[in-house]
Amino acid sequence: MIRVGVNGYGTIGKRVADAIAAQPDMTLVGVAKTRPNYEAEAALRRGYDLYAAIAERAEDFVDAGVTLAGQLDDLIEASDVVVDGCPAGVGERNRPRYAAHDTPAVFQGGEAADVADVSFNARANFEDARDAEYARVVSCNTTALSRLLAPLDEVFGVEKARVTLIRRGGDPAQTDRGPINDVVPDPVEIPSHHGPDVNTVLPGVDVDTLAVKAPVTQMHTHGLNVTLRSTPDAAEVRDLLAEESRVFIIPEEADIDGGGALKDYAMDMDRPRGDLWENCVWGESLHVEGSDLYLFENVHQEADVVPENVDAIRAMATGVPAAESRARTDESLGIGLESLFETSSTGTGLVTADD
Ligand code: NAD
Repeated sequence: MIRVGVNGYGTIGKRVADAIAAQPDMTLVGVAKTRPNYEAEAALRRGYDLYAAIAERAEDFVDAGVTLAGQLDDLIEASDVVVDGCPAGVGERNRPRYAAHDTPAVFQGGEAADVADVSFNARANFEDARDAEYARVVSCNTTALSRLLAPLDEVFGVEKARVTLIRRGGDPAQTDRGPINDVVPDPVEIPSHHGPDVNTVLPGVDVDTLAVKAPVTQMHTHGLNVTLRSTPDAAEVRDLLAEESRVFIIPEEADIDGGGALKDYAMDMDRPRGDLWENCVWGESLHVEGSDLYLFENVHQEADVVPENVDAIRAMATGVPAAESRARTDESLGIGLESLFETSSTGTGLVTADD
């Protein structure tokens, strides 16, 4: 059993903690929190041991009637691997704490790449994290792009990928983020940092990205144009992507027109927290012109990196092969949405623009 601690129990940390607790070969030692808020209550209700992330604030937990299992250093010492789910930049400051205990750590995509020995995506470069002391699971956008570009490059060859990312302004609980009535280039410089971040896990793939942020909280939307080295038809691309368990091809018959319906679908499917761990690619958007592939996908920013964290732990702490680790993670979480609709739709005719 791999003993795993989670330091930073927010949007990503709480989901990763649940995923670890669901693994047959992992034990969740506990989670470290800075304060006894509603998320601390949720952790306790799930039976997770709580540790004080900041020693001076331990009294706040006592005052709130919460029993702590210990301090952050106790959690790190008792863990074989720590997952750092702290806000961007805090992970880097935590690294010396993990090093002091000789405890390997998994960082998140908000950290600079040099926080870790290796940037990680389970589909693109699992083996690179083998036995690493520190790994960084790349961001939600980078994770999604890597999952698509890796199989496309392996089978058809990617000459050049151009991606427009329409990023959610903030997560649902982030009331301090925006915009609330605008679409803002973010970053305004082109290309954005996402392409180079993809290259930390897929160094050979030529990819340029540009990004805006929009007043939505549910999901990111990506528009891709990938120039391939061969000329498959859209059905062949569809078949390839359909084989990827972490890619869901949205069937035309499902009548899912955007992120709202997708999240509704996830809740109808009884997904915990309405989470979509898979890239969601609209089947009708799959279109090939010569060697140019086009598609739209949506990405649930709170969820897609969660299975990647689980696989990163296995890559670092075990000899389990990549495909087996991914399969174990998928099975334990229920990843791999399969629609009952037996559609094979891809892009069809052109529709006249009305604006
Ligand atoms: P979050 O703010 O939701 O959660 C971070 C948690 O860490 C909060 O509960 C906060 O109170 C706690 N924290 C703050 N300082 C701490 C400290 N010193 N010790 C322990 N805990 C501390 O943030 P998040 O969205 O979960 O992001 C975490 C990381 O994951 C970042 O690197 C981010 O870039 C990355 N990430 C976020 C998303 C997303 O969409 N939310 C997606 C992919 C990757």
